[in-house]
Amino acid sequence: MDDKPASHGEHHATIRSAMIDTSSKLVLGPFQDAPGYDKAMELDGSDPLSRFKERFVVTDPRLIYLDGNSLGRLPDKTQDLVAGVVADEWGDRLIRSWNEGWWDLQLRLGDLLARIIGADPGEVIISDSTSVNLFKLAYSAVAARPGKHKIITDDLNFPTDVYVLGGVAGLFGDDYLMQIVESDGVHGPVPGLADAIDDDTALVSLSHTVFKSGYTYDMAELTRLAHESGALVLWDCSHSVGAVPIDFEGAGVDLAIGCTYKYLNGGPGSPAFLYVRKDLQDELSNPITAWWGHSDPFAFDLEFEPVSGIRRFHTGTMPMLSLAAAEPGIADVVEAGMGEIRTKSVALTEYFIELWETHLASLGFKLGSPQDSAIRGSHISLTHDDAWPIARALIERAKVIPDFRAPDSLRFGFSPLYTSFVDVHTAAHRLRTLVENEVHHEYASVKATVT
Ligand SMILES: *Cc1c(COP(=O)(O)O)cnc(C)c1O
Repeated sequence: MDDKPASHGEHHATIRSAMIDTSSKLVLGPFQDAPGYDKAMELDGSDPLSRFKERFVVTDPRLIYLDGNSLGRLPDKTQDLVAGVVADEWGDRLIRSWNEGWWDLQLRLGDLLARIIGADPGEVIISDSTSVNLFKLAYSAVAARPGKHKIITDDLNFPTDVYVLGGVAGLFGDDYLMQIVESDGVHGPVPGLADAIDDDTALVSLSHTVFKSGYTYDMAELTRLAHESGALVLWDCSHSVGAVPIDFEGAGVDLAIGCTYKYLNGGPGSPAFLYVRKDLQDELSNPITAWWGHSDPFAFDLEFEPVSGIRRFHTGTMPMLSLAAAEPGIADVVEAGMGEIRTKSVALTEYFIELWETHLASLGFKLGSPQDSAIRGSHISLTHDDAWPIARALIERAKVIPDFRAPDSLRFGFSPLYTSFVDVHTAAHRLRTLVENEVHHEYASVKATVT
């Protein structure tokens, strides 16, 4: 019945791999002759942060990683550090390690991070996940404003934030509500927020830099608006910490949270940070009344008595390997300083926007981020009708890793410690070549779980 020649399948495979090979070469470059290359070289030559790039593990030099806003790269030091923690602190010292640095590590790393977010020692801990920290602080804030029934957020916030805030409102009862203020899809709806925040508002919670468009709020302005109505404010800094300057003290912020695995390069699922302004710490209560927040955990008393200060926002035993792994990434950002980091971040994103205008806009890409860098973080979204197949093709054929955010956004994260201007130039030209040659059409039906 089968009259196909025996070699048919093989023959077909050869043709296909030859085809992939040619177009991979085509989209990979090099693009030294393409416009803008000299400028990229010049900018890299005068970059005061260039020394940091070599501190990260690079296994494939041709890969351009533009997803550091979702999972930062692995610092070299982290590999050695984790190996040491496993061998010495767990393997050798065992339980004794709790008294030899583990117990206070959340506070010590919090104090380190405090230096780049305008906080004092004792105002920050690294603990749990961003979602859990959001729950703890949002609940404690609403409980601290009895008689006020509203939590205000916007439609640019990360979904987990909206789910948690809605869940918190629900726990307080039917007369509580979360109000989601509508935006234009790119810019924070500041006038709408100003209208929505009123005397019945207990809490205003927003992302400092929003995850899709990269719009960045004026933290001081929104905090003032919330305070004028007697509300507390809780900022999620997941997409800004380590990339955008933050000054909690200067802005009068009450509460904040954020990931350490994005621009802080702490590792997949590394514990998040949590900030509570000093004078509020003893006024607020952690709704998860767990033993690490007890005034004397090793008394093993059955009565819960919260400890004074930031420690009351602890929960239970921390994943020490993940916590320890977060230190080198945070230390690098502290060493580089937020001034230099912001200067380079703005230059990287402005350069990418320039390349979009000259090479990508005509191919159907639209800017999904604010054009003005004063209100933008360190990532840029481009929208395109074929965003999903383009993202797949970019990753698999062009060795450029952005991410895709439904329905039509490609996000490019620029991590000032390891993204170079030549990286940006090469990525833009790989993207251009790929779309010009319609390579992405081959990826129209590919699916993936994590985008
Ligand atoms: C990345 C991110 C999160 C992730 O929360 P996890 O609890 O770590 O999964 C939450 N909020 C914002 C704004 C984020 O950018």
